[in-house]
Amino acid sequence: MSRAPAAAITEAGLTDFYERLADYYGPQCWWPHLDEANPRFEILVGAVLTQHTAWRNVERAIAVLQAAGPLTAETLLAHEDLPELIRQAGPHRVKAQRLVALCEWFINVGGFAGMSAMTTDALCSALRDVRGIGPETADVIALYTADRPRFIADAYAFRIFERLGWWQGKTRRYETLRRQVEACAPEAWQAADYDEIHALIVRHAIAICHKHRPACSECPVSSCCRRIGVALPSG
Ligand code: SF4
Repeated sequence: MSRAPAAAITEAGLTDFYERLADYYGPQCWWPHLDEANPRFEILVGAVLTQHTAWRNVERAIAVLQAAGPLTAETLLAHEDLPELIRQAGPHRVKAQRLVALCEWFINVGGFAGMSAMTTDALCSALRDVRGIGPETADVIALYTADRPRFIADAYAFRIFERLGWWQGKTRRYETLRRQVEACAPEAWQAADYDEIHALIVRHAIAICHKHRPACSECPVSSCCRRIGVALPSG
């Protein structure tokens, strides 16, 4: 294992990391959605369904929901068989409860118009108060449905940043990493940049920086990575 010391995230390092991934992988065009008529509400639903579930299962559940009626908060609340409709997206009873809570909240705040009238901190805080919505899901909803500049400090980001030497805590603290990255990000970064860097991090973690045996020889950021915690090839 490498014993290289950890290093702070800097604006120059973060910008270089982002540009290298963007050059290597190209535009990611997130968030994936099926419903061109109402993509933001589909993203809101998908953000709940994707908790601890592979995206292909979320797509199947959303397709079933769409076949059952328009994808709106009012329609979802009217489905008596909502848990069955989303059965393919993992723990369906728990997720149905979360969807109901989120739909009720969405209606109460006045939909996307009401969300857009809130400050980013107020919006994310209000979302975290909804049953089953944690900081990551709240930030995903704020970023992808309300264009708010939030860094998504998910497990993929922690894995890569730990290896780069940019996260040195023994415990992965979502809010701490999110705040550190946003404090170092260039002032010019908009929601579109946070959208893109999150998508690129997910792509990189899945394609190259695997949990086990990352393909470092193919990595576009290898020259600035300390490979902390990565087993080096023998010989
Ligand atoms: S060099 Fe290896 S450990 Fe570092 S980011 Fe690239 S794939 Fe991950």
